Amino acid sequence: MVRILLVGHGRMGQLVERLAPAHGCEVAGVVTRRSGSDAIASGDFGHVDVAIDFSLPDAVAANVRQLSRRKTNVVIGTTGWQRDEAALRDLAARDGIGVLASANFSIGMAVFRAAVQETARRFAPIAGVGAWIHESHHATKKDAPSGTALMLKVAMEQAGYSREINVASTRAGSIPGTHEVGFDAAAETMTLVHEVRDRSVFAHGALQAAVWLKGRCGWFSMENMVENLKSEN
Ligand code: NAD
Repeated sequence: MVRILLVGHGRMGQLVERLAPAHGCEVAGVVTRRSGSDAIASGDFGHVDVAIDFSLPDAVAANVRQLSRRKTNVVIGTTGWQRDEAALRDLAARDGIGVLASANFSIGMAVFRAAVQETARRFAPIAGVGAWIHESHHATKKDAPSGTALMLKVAMEQAGYSREINVASTRAGSIPGTHEVGFDAAAETMTLVHEVRDRSVFAHGALQAAVWLKGRCGWFSMENMVENLKSEN
């Protein structure tokens, strides 16, 4: 049994709580904004293997600082906190905890990212081919562009696509998350689309990550986890 601390109990936190038993996880405690600013450091949750943070961009740094002090590993699902990443990496290394951070815990997105990267690699040397990313999410999403759109952009750049990549965001209704990547030449267009129909895909991915992260030390991505699982099988 993996004992998890839920940090954030909104849409994602509640889904993780509901799906935890299916992954052999038990909820040791729940922290929300109303719990107070030192709730993680001072809370009595018994033994905790891994915390799962689905809170808000501005809350992540303080949450991870408190978790690091408790020597508690953490899966970060929250997006939009990357300006704090360098400091949090130093902290995690100093305290010897495990962190797995991903802007998108869907397995399909991992495949999509690889397809986008390969497509960008093939279009990169062809002059005149322009590229764009368009993401759509529900009206209450705080950060724009999405963390996933930024991750896709980096993947394209790493593949050698060095021209401008136009990134646009739409915020409306209840859209759980759609990412479209397009390449446009003089007489043809190619689009790749990943569409989430059900948010539970993120919760399952985060719980899988928590089980994998138990007892590990270091800073990891979803790709690290998937590669490592492949080599273990
Ligand atoms: P939400 O608004 O429904 O819930 C946010 C929760 O965070 C609330 O319970 C709130 O009380 C809590 N919170 C706020 N400040 C806090 C603090 N200081 N400490 C602890 N809890 C605090 O949001 P959501 O839809 O659940 O999404 C949460 C985050 O997860 C967002 O950043 C979103 O972009 C991201 N997200 C990531 C993935 C992924 O796969 N990585 C998938 C979906 C959403």
